[in-house]
Order: sequence, then C-alpha cells, then structure tokens
Amino acid sequence: MADPKGFIKIKKKPAGNRPIHERIDDYSEVEQVLNSEDRQLQAQRCMDCGIPFCHWGCPVDNLIPEWNDLLYRGDWKGASERLQSTNNFPEFTGRICPAPCEHSCVLNIDGEPVTIRENEAAIAEKAFAEGYIKPNPPKVRTGKKVAVIGSGPAGMAAADQLNKAGHSVTLFEKDKKVGGLLRYGIPDFKLNKHTIDRRMKILMAEGIEVKTETEVGKDISGTELLKKFDAICLTIGAMQPRDLEIEGRDLDGIHYAMDFLTQQNKVNDGAYVAYDNRITAEERNVLVIGGGDTGSDCVGTATRQGAKSVTQIEILPKPPKQRSADNPWPYYARTLKTSTSHEEGCDRRWSLSTLKFHGMQQRVTHAEVQEVAWGRGVNGSYAMKPVKGTKEKIEADLILLAMGFVHPVIEGLVTELKISLNGRKNIDIDHTMATSVQKVFAAGDAANGASLVVTAIASGRRAAKKIDDFLLSQKKN
Ligand SMILES: Cc1cc2nc3c(=O)[nH]c(=O)nc-3n(C[C@H](O)[C@H](O)[C@H](O)COP(=O)(O)OP(=O)(O)OC[C@H]3O[C@@H](n4cnc5c(N)ncnc54)[C@H](O)[C@@H]3O)c2cc1C
Ligand code: SF4
Repeated sequence: MADPKGFIKIKKKPAGNRPIHERIDDYSEVEQVLNSEDRQLQAQRCMDCGIPFCHWGCPVDNLIPEWNDLLYRGDWKGASERLQSTNNFPEFTGRICPAPCEHSCVLNIDGEPVTIRENEAAIAEKAFAEGYIKPNPPKVRTGKKVAVIGSGPAGMAAADQLNKAGHSVTLFEKDKKVGGLLRYGIPDFKLNKHTIDRRMKILMAEGIEVKTETEVGKDISGTELLKKFDAICLTIGAMQPRDLEIEGRDLDGIHYAMDFLTQQNKVNDGAYVAYDNRITAEERNVLVIGGGDTGSDCVGTATRQGAKSVTQIEILPKPPKQRSADNPWPYYARTLKTSTSHEEGCDRRWSLSTLKFHGMQQRVTHAEVQEVAWGRGVNGSYAMKPVKGTKEKIEADLILLAMGFVHPVIEGLVTELKISLNGRKNIDIDHTMATSVQKVFAAGDAANGASLVVTAIASGRRAAKKIDDFLLSQKKN
C-alpha cells in the first residue's frame, strides 16, 4: 500500500495548464506536466482504502491503488506494466479521460481526489521515454485471420488484444490516418497526434497490418472480407451527427461540429484546404449549439482561429455546482463542468431552444432562440415547455451544430452485410459481442452509442476476448 497518511501530509497538486494568453495562439497541448518527484508525491496521496471505489469507477478496471503504490515507490516500470495490463492506451486516457475514477475516489468526499488521470499519463510517458514500452510480437501464431474495421480506440484496442493472442490482424480504416475520433475529432490542444503515431508504430512492429484509405463496403466489400477472414470486428464508430431541421438550416455558415473540427485537425497535420472550402471562425461571431464536450472543443478551436465572439448554448438546464441529493458520491458527479476552452473565453447559456436561423444573401446572420422551462410531464418524465415572451435573436455568422451523434452510419457496410440494429439504430450485439451475422462482432460507439475513449477501449478489449473464444472453439471443432 502507498502511504496510509500520505493524503494528510501532501496537498493535491495538479499539473495545471499553460497560461491562456500563450496557449490560444497555438494548438499545442494545454495541460502541463509535473516533475517526477512531485508526481511520486501525488501518488503517495493514494491510501489504498481497501474498497477501491476508483477501480469500480474506471471502465477498463485499472488497478489504480496498485500502480499508485508502485509509482510512490519509484518503480515506474512496474507501474507501467500494471497499468498496461488493463489499459492498452494509458497515454490517451491519461490525457483526455473525464476520469470517473476521480469522482469515485474516497478523497473526493472532501473534493481533493488523487490526481489519478495525471498519474496515469505520467506513468505512460515515462514508460515511452525510458523504452519500457517496446514492440513485443506474439511468439506463436494461431493461423486465424481477423479483420478489424475502423481504427478508433475500440478498433485499436481490439486489434492489439487479438494480435497479442496470436491471431493475424488487419485493421481497415477509411480515413488517411488511423485513430478515428482521437485523430480527427479531438483537437490537438487536448491530445497531440504524435501519441497515436507512436502507439501505432509499436502495434505495426508487433505484426498488425494496417490498410488506410480503404472503406469497407465501398473500396472492398464486406462479403469479400467474410470470405477472406475467420472473424470480423466492426468498430466503425457512431458517426451520424444529430441535425437541427428548422427553418434556415440550408443557409451558408451552418456546419456540423465534426466538419469544423476535422478540417482544423487536418490543417494542423499539413493538409491543404482551398479557401472556398475552409470553415473558419476568424473574425466571425460564432454560435455553438450543444453544451457537451464536442461543443467545448468547437469553442477552443474557434478561439484559436480568431473568432470575434463565441457563444455556446444548451437546451438542458444549467447543472448545479455541487452534487444534488440524488447524485451522491461515489457516482459520477452531474455538476457544472468548465473546460479549459471555456476558460479561454465564451458566453455560456442554458435552457435555450433554437427555433429558426435568419440570414442575408444566403449566409446566416442570427439564430432565433427561446427559453424553455424543464419539469416533470404528465407521465412523470422530464419534459420542457417554452417560456412565453423570451424569444430573442443571437447574432452569429458561423453556427456549429454539436448536438451529439445518433448512431453509426448505416449506409454502406452495415446495409451490405444486413447487420441487425437495435432500437437506437446502433449495431445489435449479444452477450458475446456477436452481431446478427455469423462471425461478425462489434464494439465501441458503433454498438454502445457515442460514449468515451475509455469505454471504447474497454469494449474493444471485451470483443477481442469473445472473438478469441470463438476462434478457439472453432479450432477444437
Ligand atoms: C469532438 C469530440 C471530442 C471528444 N472528446 C472526448 C474526450 O475528451 N474524452 C473522451 O473520453 N471521449 C471523447 N470523445 C468521444 C470519443 O472520441 C469516442 O467515444 C471514441 O473515439 C469512440 O471510439 P470508437 O473506436 O468506437 O469509434 P471512432 O473513434 O469513431 O472510430 C471509428 C473509425 O471507424 C472508421 N470507419 C467507419 N466506417 C468505416 C468503414 N466502412 N471502413 C473503414 N473504416 C471505417 C472511421 O473512419 C473511424 O476512424 C469525443 C468525441 C468527439 C466527437
Ligand atoms: S482510464 Fe479514466 S477512469 Fe480509468 S483510471 Fe484512467 S482516468 Fe481514471
């Protein structure tokens, strides 16, 4: 166990962020790094409280008290091995996980949890720097071939686990580079893309074959893959964005958040985008519709592009600052979250519904909004009602729709293979992660709906285990 009284002796010390005036001029990561000595002291604050609620809160079941103890003792290699035993990519989650573990940490009862996420990132980075993480190809190959379709965190985790089990894995990706939303959704200022390339280099050196710019269902058919591979894992994400079909939607200057974010990520990577196709917030009044993480990423990107003003609106009410009675510790706190992008400057408003877009000469100029009041409807469900006399217009000549994703893209592969969908139009899977089509499995957002990187990794790992069981059972038959 780490120091049982460490949390009394040592104060919580987060690494903190780069100063706002400096960071809004570039796309480099916002979060800073603590020195190794301070980092070990932060691990010393973990008291290994017997029932590790943090472990319960972590979707990949990270053995948090165990690696905090190793880190406290200065055994960075041991800490890395323990961390990698449950999480394929701690360098991603250590940077961008919303850290439900910290919400569940016993020290969070007093609002001073162990800096679990930052400790995780520090262990991963030290492990790369010291060469503890290096290619370790499987000693024996099973002769079975698996196709993993989609290279987001779920696909990368499934491919890694299946390859480690000795199967020959081909990872198909329709985009130019691997990573899914890690690469093209999440901005560089939260996750620099070198981390994805560094990990992929190792996975490829371990034997995973990668085929980018190959859309399965278009460039190669799913049926062909079914003939060539012993199993298929679909990790195609939930890429269908929620639209807002109201008057004025067809005006110029209204875009899906992902089109805006993807373009900036590609530009940062050196891609050329013709002037007429560039979606830029420069000198524009920007309105982001949707109060979640994607919206927050639009805010940070618009600020860096030189927006005149940035407003973010949300239809739901403003969350409380403190936990409410029906949301106690150790559950994830449904409280107001202020991201680094919000801190950089943004007018945030809640309980606003968007009614109409207004424009001039085919370009949007305003969004008409109205306040809504939330309460229990007749059948007891949470429902909203427009508040009379509260209609107003918000000036905006760039509007970004960040209202979440509804389900995976159905056109193409899913339709071709006649894969059954559930009530939410996600890919329907059973307890073995199998779809309705023989030897086709699914994981990540495509099966669970839009979620988090850590849940995608957990789901990819689970699917890999089930596919391994399936292939081994076939071997015996
Ligand atoms: C803007 C934004 C910010 C986010 N920020 C965070 C965050 O800070 N923290 C967090 O935990 N989560 C965040 N998320 C959520 C997280 O990124 C996703 O939950 C996660 O990436 C889902 O992983 P996945 O592997 O299931 O799918 P994805 O990452 O969506 O990857 C799916 C991949 O499949 C490929 N593909 C699809 N169809 C085909 C086909 N037919 N053939 C070949 N390839 C195909 C796609 O091109 C894509 O690369 C964010 C999401 C967005 C949109
Ligand atoms: S993956 Fe997320 S929930 Fe799990 S230990 Fe890391 S930060 Fe916490």
